Amino acid sequence: MQFRDLSKQYNLHKLEIDAAIESVLNKADFIHGTKVVELEEELAQYVGAKHCITCGNGTDALQLALMAWNIGSGDAVFVPDFTFFSSGEVVSAVGATPIFVDIYSDTFNIEPVKLESAVKKVKEQGKLDPKVVIAVDLFGQPAEYDRIRSVCNDYDLLLLEDGAQGFGGRIGEKRACSFGDISTTSFFPAKPLGCYGDGGAVFTDNDEWAALIRSLCVHGKGSDKYDNIRIGMNSRLDTIQAAILREKMKFLDEELEACNRVAESYSNLLRDNIIVPTVRPNYSSAWAQYTILLKDSDERNLIIQRLKDYGIPSNIYYKKPMHEQKAFEGIVLGEEYFHNSVEVCRRCLSLPMHPYLSDREIKDVTKVINEDCIMSDEI
Ligand SMILES: *Cc1c(COP(=O)(O)O)cnc(C)c1O
Repeated sequence: MQFRDLSKQYNLHKLEIDAAIESVLNKADFIHGTKVVELEEELAQYVGAKHCITCGNGTDALQLALMAWNIGSGDAVFVPDFTFFSSGEVVSAVGATPIFVDIYSDTFNIEPVKLESAVKKVKEQGKLDPKVVIAVDLFGQPAEYDRIRSVCNDYDLLLLEDGAQGFGGRIGEKRACSFGDISTTSFFPAKPLGCYGDGGAVFTDNDEWAALIRSLCVHGKGSDKYDNIRIGMNSRLDTIQAAILREKMKFLDEELEACNRVAESYSNLLRDNIIVPTVRPNYSSAWAQYTILLKDSDERNLIIQRLKDYGIPSNIYYKKPMHEQKAFEGIVLGEEYFHNSVEVCRRCLSLPMHPYLSDREIKDVTKVINEDCIMSDEI
């Protein structure tokens, strides 16, 4: 069994994908080709944003947003304590200070009440200038944007949506990557919309920021690449990757629906014995991960081993909260803030999740977990 079966997807759509790659080879427009422009238009339309600028990966996408806003030394950027390293890394990379904020223990997303108290605390301390909130659509579910937005309005903060895991998710009819002042995503192969290598994109409705980001990702270009008017970076999506993504966009909604069915089956079969993922009413997840909570790390170790005995892969996303990462040593507020992220790190386990998981496979996974969770209850 595969954790995320990318070969099955490729084999189902091999003819179209191969033809798309071949057309780029024939045209030899490998960098900034027409397929990149077409993809950007399609992506912008899909998420409901005015501008889409593709780039090298999801980490660059986040950094480009912070660079466009001129975030740097002396600025505070609020980041959930439970996320992939990139969400905080880019803050330090531009010279600003990440302030980690605890999460909800059920949706794993940043908790708005704790966000507000973290902002207040930074203001009171007076050392840093609160500037940006990075909200992450963790495991595919959009963060709680109505409440996050109201904190941003109250304290005059910019909102950056890290939609690396969220592409295709929704709140009502509004799609992920349209909730931030700037929003970003990643096309890393295992993400909900993945290419066959690295890729990323930035979304915004703001013309000025869009123009700045277009410049920043091509060496701070002015009238062209050899007229350089600011320090930028080199970050672009290959035309081959754009061609692949255009094909994949055609069946993305179908895949998202299939993931919803898988999640529903998992949850129906598991919810009597363990804590299954919570999706808030009116929210729709892109199911980058299906993550359960076990009683403690002992039970988790047992389940990982038993799954492995049956050839079933599982992964811990994430083992460590951000504030415990060595790279962030010495910049953290108070330990009392992180009750939920610490607890979730000890108990979370992500199960195989992709659109092509069969009913048989779902039964096999849930059978192992149900047997062991009941058994460990009896001990
Ligand atoms: C994957 C990921 C990123 C980074 O994307 P890359 O394309 O790997 O650089 C950023 N944030 C989150 C939450 C992610 O899961």
